[in-house]
Amino acid sequence: MNNTIALSQTTRITDTINQLATFTEPERPHTRLVFSSEFEQARLWLRETFVAAGLSCHVDAGGNLVGVLKARTDEPCPDKVLLGSHIDTVPAGGRFDGIAGVAAALEVVHYLNTNEIKLPFDLEIVDYLGEELNVWGTSCLGSRHMAGLITSEMLERVDPDGRKLGTEIARIGGSGGTSEEPRSDASQIIACLELHIEQAKSLEKQNLDVGIVTSIPGIYRYSISITGQAGHSGTTTMTERRDALVAAADIIQGVSAIANQIAGADNQHFAATIGKIDVFPNGAAIVPGQVEATLDLRAASDHSRLNFFAEFENLCTQASKSRNCEINIKQLAAAAAAPMNDELMKLLATAAVKTGVSSTKISGGAGHDTAHLSRFAPAGMIFIPCRDGLSHCPEEFTTSEAIAKGSLVLIGCVLELARRTSLTRA
Ligand SMILES: [Zn+2]
Repeated sequence: MNNTIALSQTTRITDTINQLATFTEPERPHTRLVFSSEFEQARLWLRETFVAAGLSCHVDAGGNLVGVLKARTDEPCPDKVLLGSHIDTVPAGGRFDGIAGVAAALEVVHYLNTNEIKLPFDLEIVDYLGEELNVWGTSCLGSRHMAGLITSEMLERVDPDGRKLGTEIARIGGSGGTSEEPRSDASQIIACLELHIEQAKSLEKQNLDVGIVTSIPGIYRYSISITGQAGHSGTTTMTERRDALVAAADIIQGVSAIANQIAGADNQHFAATIGKIDVFPNGAAIVPGQVEATLDLRAASDHSRLNFFAEFENLCTQASKSRNCEINIKQLAAAAAAPMNDELMKLLATAAVKTGVSSTKISGGAGHDTAHLSRFAPAGMIFIPCRDGLSHCPEEFTTSEAIAKGSLVLIGCVLELARRTSLTRA
């Protein structure tokens, strides 16, 4: 393959990034929440771009936008390779999280088109629906659907504006129904590949082009509901108070301390965050009667997660007793850690060597669609550096050259998969 990055390629990548960046809430760049009008407009643009690249497009039952580059016509019952990422963003997010992976996937298609290469498998370029955590409390909607992990309970959730999740998925072209099994063609999928910005500093610090991801950590989310008693801030004596916010403060401090301890003791990634908290009635002259908070856990091993939980339970019991509040914990989401496919890791590493792209093995801290895809098909992922490790903020940045280098690795991997597939069939 041709390993050099043409100026036309980086120009095209820059153009894709810039075009998608125009679809944002104007007052709050870069905001393209799933199901928003900005998201729908971006999808329309992306669909046109897919078609212009020779892909035949459809929205699947999970609401994923899929562009298919068909296999050579002489191939019977072709295998499939999935390549993609996501174009939705968090509120006031960045221009590259997810988008870089879609741009890189398009580069693979351009390479194949330019070199008139026909593959022995269908190549599906996917914009996975709603990867970012949404107001309904679920991330990775599209990849979860593919993996058979969308339940009726999730679809029935209603946001503060009265929008039901299932209805929204149907509105953008999905079925809006549950998925209890992985995709029916799962056995035909020989690889799911994704490029993503690292969202941390390790590649940048080591001055490396690409990280070959070894595993995606498990992600667990819980609601913490604390019930005390609201009352007059002037007349409720300090000893009578059942202040839910003070109990929440105990828990927030405690979670941070426990997580620090576990992250320090365990070599594998562990992080715990209480990043969302609502106080009721939320008045300056009222003792807080109710707090709703969300705990987010990232754990590369079950061992560290279980350790955390043992201590967390003690912490809640203590806070409940000392603040005279009732505390209820409910699991909102759980996704076990997802190791990447060994063979694909090797192929990606070899492709990096062959294309002169420097690489290292790496494990991430964020969740990705590929974690869900890995439950039903071989999955591999690469990271590219992003400036100062910043992500989920407007300062998020990587270069078109970095995306181009990453796409070279994807191209190398796809070509090797094609060679092997042809060999097996011969
Ligand atoms: Zn992402």
